[in-house]
Amino acid sequence: MKILFDEIDPRAEALGVENKLIFATGPLTGTGAPAGGRFIVVSKSPLTGAIANSCCGGYFGAQLKFAGYDLLIIEGKAPEPVYLSIRSDGVAIKPAGHLWGKWTTETETLLKAEIKQEFDIWEASDTSIVSIGPAGENRVRFACVMADGGRAVGRSGVGAVMGSKNLKAITASGRGEVAIADSEGFKKAVMDFLEEGRENKELEKRRMWGTWSLPGRANKTGTQAALNFQSGYFKPFEVFEDPAFIRDNIRVRDEACFGCPFACSKRSRIKDPDYPGTTKGPEHETMALVGSNCGVGDLDDICRVNYLCNELGMDTITTGATISCAMELFESGYLPEKDTGYPLNFGNTASMFQLVKETSRRQGFGDLLADGGYAVAEKYGHAELFMGVKKQGMPAWHPQGIEVIGLQYATSNVGACHTKATLPMYDGRRNPAHHVEWTKQDQDALAVVDSSILCW
Ligand code: SF4
Repeated sequence: MKILFDEIDPRAEALGVENKLIFATGPLTGTGAPAGGRFIVVSKSPLTGAIANSCCGGYFGAQLKFAGYDLLIIEGKAPEPVYLSIRSDGVAIKPAGHLWGKWTTETETLLKAEIKQEFDIWEASDTSIVSIGPAGENRVRFACVMADGGRAVGRSGVGAVMGSKNLKAITASGRGEVAIADSEGFKKAVMDFLEEGRENKELEKRRMWGTWSLPGRANKTGTQAALNFQSGYFKPFEVFEDPAFIRDNIRVRDEACFGCPFACSKRSRIKDPDYPGTTKGPEHETMALVGSNCGVGDLDDICRVNYLCNELGMDTITTGATISCAMELFESGYLPEKDTGYPLNFGNTASMFQLVKETSRRQGFGDLLADGGYAVAEKYGHAELFMGVKKQGMPAWHPQGIEVIGLQYATSNVGACHTKATLPMYDGRRNPAHHVEWTKQDQDALAVVDSSILCW
C-alpha cells in the first residue's frame, strides 16, 4: 500500500498507463505458516477510484518467493498481449496473442502445456499461474485476477487493470526457499498453533464446510442479502441450514492453499453439459450475491453462474450486486425491457446467464453493467437502488441484521468488502453505543492481518 501511495498520483486514470499493479507477498508467504501462503494485489481501482487491495490463496505467492521475489510492480502497458514468466533463473515477457480471449482455465491449461514442452512435466506441475479472462481484457470494472484453477483476487477490478496493461497472465515457479532466522523457534510456534487448532471447534467447522455453513446461518438470523438487500431472508435458502445439503450435492474435493492444514476450499462440479468441468466455490459470498440477492435459490444455477464468473474472470460479488440492482430497477419499472432485450426479473436465471456473458464482452446491455451497479442505477435515475459503498457492491451480510457491519462497510478504505469487516453478531456485540469503538478495533486488527497477508 505504501508503494501505491508513494508511486501513483491519486488523480491517475485507473485504466491508464500511469496506474500500477502490485503483486505482493507477506513475511510468512512460503514459510509453511498455516494460512500464510497468500499474496495480495494492490492498485488504484477502476470501480471505486479508491485503493484496490485484494488478497488470494493458492500457490502463486509461495512460488513467487521461491523464485526470489517479494513483490512485483507492473508498470506501463505492453503494445501487444503478453504474459510474464517468472522463474528462479530469470524473468521473461512472452507473447500472449494466442491466449487473448481464452477463459481462465483454458489459459492455465495452454500455458502449462507450453511449459511442459519447453521444460518438463515437473516444471509445469510446480508452476502457479494467475490470469485474466475476457472480462479483464474488456476492462470490465469489476474483473478479477484468477489463480490456480478457480481462486480469485476478487474485488475492486484488479483484473481490469491487468487487462489495461495487455498482461494476460503471470507464471511463477521457483527452486529457492524462504530463509527463517530462527527456524527451530518458528517450527515450534507452528506446531503449538496446530496443537491448539486441534481443539478449536470453529477451525474444525471451517475445514469441514469451508464457508458452506454460513448461508443457512445467515438466513436463519435475517442477515442474508436477498433481493437486492430488500430482505435479510430468502425462503429457498432454508435447505442450506444443513450445510451437508451443499456438500453432498456439489463437492468434488477439498483443497488447501500452500502450507495450510485447514484445506477449507471446496471444489465443486457444474451440472451443465455446456460447461463440463469443476471450479472452486461457490463461497458464501457468491451464494448470497448471485443467489439469494438475485432471487436465485437453485444450487445448480448458483454453481453455473459461479463457474461462468470464474472462467470469464469477474468478481462474483460485484457481478451479483450489479445484476440484482438491475433486477430491482427492472421490477420497479425504471429499467425498460427494450434496453435489456429480455425480462430481468428476480430469479430469471436464463437472463442472468446471458447477461453475465454479455457483461464480460461489454455487449448489449452488458456494456453498461460492466461499469458496475452504481453506473446502472444512476443512469436510470435511481442511485438509491445501488446497495454499496464507494460504488462497490455490498457483500453477503445484510447490515439490517448486523448494524455494526454497515458502519464497517461505510468506513472501509476500499468500499464495501467482506474482507474488511468482521462478523460481530457471533460474539454478542450488538449494542449500538459501541459500534464506533468496535469498528475501529476491528479495522485496526484487519489492517494487521492484511499487512501480514494472512487468511482469516
Ligand atoms: S484457511 Fe483455507 S483459504 Fe485460508 S489459507 Fe488455509 S486453505 Fe487457504
